[in-house]
Amino acid sequence: MALKQLVEKGLENKTLFEKHFLEQNTFFPNSDPFVVINEDSNNITIGKCIRALYYEKMEALEKQFDARVLMKFEDGLGFEKIVCSALQRTGNFLADHVKIKFPYKNIRISGEVDLIATTSDGETVGVELKTGTGYYFQQQVFYGYKNEPTVEREYIVNQLQAAPIVEHLMQAGIYLYYYQNIFKSKKELTNINKWFLLYKDNETSEMAEYIVYLTVDSKDSKHYINTAKLNETGSYDAIALKPIAIEDIFENFVMTQNYIDISVLPPRSYNPSYTDEEIDELLEKKLLSKNKHKEMKAGKIEKMHYKCAYCQFLSLCLQNKEIIRDEEPLPIVQNVL
Ligand code: SF4
Repeated sequence: MALKQLVEKGLENKTLFEKHFLEQNTFFPNSDPFVVINEDSNNITIGKCIRALYYEKMEALEKQFDARVLMKFEDGLGFEKIVCSALQRTGNFLADHVKIKFPYKNIRISGEVDLIATTSDGETVGVELKTGTGYYFQQQVFYGYKNEPTVEREYIVNQLQAAPIVEHLMQAGIYLYYYQNIFKSKKELTNINKWFLLYKDNETSEMAEYIVYLTVDSKDSKHYINTAKLNETGSYDAIALKPIAIEDIFENFVMTQNYIDISVLPPRSYNPSYTDEEIDELLEKKLLSKNKHKEMKAGKIEKMHYKCAYCQFLSLCLQNKEIIRDEEPLPIVQNVL
């Protein structure tokens, strides 16, 4: 077997190995969050589809990611090493790969924090490190858009502004919630009020920095996510987000678990087969870009939500396939090669 193929096999084995650690009632801030924003009587789902999450938890994997995609997932590891050793040299490093786990109703939330560090003012903060490349990544997190973007960014008030990717905001928000409300045992880590999102463009090696913080709404006592971007003068520009509450994310996890417990297929969060009337309506509500609408009308792209176009469970979903568990989950593999 060629060396290249061995590497590809090793990458695939790693994901299979990690899958064995999936516990069905455990939800992960780095891949699972989703929330429904109610705006002008429209319910807009942000993040993972509840049905896709159900299929994932039922291990109904239709297609494995190919080695190229898996390699991209691993790309961020190099950036993590670089940032940790740089902050060790400046004396700002406190800890990395910090595992957290906490119960919420009938589920558990489990994650791994990239980095805990101190700022130049001595404030203890959390940090998530992300990498990416290409036009959309650059416009999304570095520069913003000059014209209406062709990608959906329903969680941002001003569609032209640069902003963190919503899954990263929810991940950072959940970690902040944990440190502010649950974690109490270590004195030096009790006052984490900011979480940094540090993005690196793999093409240019430039970095973009955001601060994430939570505010508690006096009306419903929920913790809402806020963010601000570091500008060239060293201060931070606030990015207006639509309301995303941490408690709503947790409640959605609970709802998913309840569908799993009673073996019922959840409803779709997105639409994998729009009608012509529906895409016209989406355009009118500014929930679909003019370009995408035009391409859908011309049959150049499928009339479906972009999440469905990339969904691993599309054909199962179109058949409304229910998954019946007829065997125990596979045992944990200690040695994968
Ligand atoms: S195809 Fe769309 S609606 Fe169906 S599971 Fe995937 S993301 Fe959800």
